[in-house]
Amino acid sequence: MEQKVKGLTGEKIGKWTVVEFSYSAANEEGRVVPHLRVACECGTSKILSIEVLRSGDCDSESCGCIA
Ligand SMILES: [Zn+2]
Repeated sequence: MEQKVKGLTGEKIGKWTVVEFSYSAANEEGRVVPHLRVACECGTSKILSIEVLRSGDCDSESCGCIA
């Protein structure tokens, strides 16, 4: 799992750029998923699960700096 995530480093997803793998943790459904530290175009960094990043949910698009 972590090997796959490392390949994502530097990838742009919406406004986010993947900085690094952060940790693995269970999601709301109890499945363990990788969480990544991501940086928004505005410079804000945040930890998001890979599922959120890939889901297209509003959280995945930016830190909130753009409506
Ligand atoms: Zn931002």
